[in-house]
Amino acid sequence: MGTRIARALRLHCPQCGGPGILESWFKMRAACPSCGLLLDRGMRDFFIGAYLINLIVAEVLFAVLVGSVVWATWPATSWDALQYIAIAAIIVAPLTTYPFTKTTWLAFDLAFSPPSEKDWSRT
Ligand SMILES: [Zn+2]
Repeated sequence: MGTRIARALRLHCPQCGGPGILESWFKMRAACPSCGLLLDRGMRDFFIGAYLINLIVAEVLFAVLVGSVVWATWPATSWDALQYIAIAAIIVAPLTTYPFTKTTWLAFDLAFSPPSEKDWSRT
């Protein structure tokens, strides 16, 4: 499982470690160009779990950022500046972590449900 997670965090295929599974920052290819694994595992709603992980990671990063700023600047915290930083962070964090959470979700899924015949592209 650790190897798969490490590959996922490098945005490589969790199954084979091959690169190039992202078509763009927001879109994953249908299949891994190296091993042919169907990246949505043939399920239309496969990445709903990834969206949940993305939300959790973004919210934790947001809470850590705001908490750190308040802790570092207390009692002279600039609440106006913090408000703008928080708004920017809550927009940037999920966009930044999006592909990582998708590949990580795939790595977790592969660990608990190893690939079978239906998980490989025909090409
Ligand atoms: Zn692969």
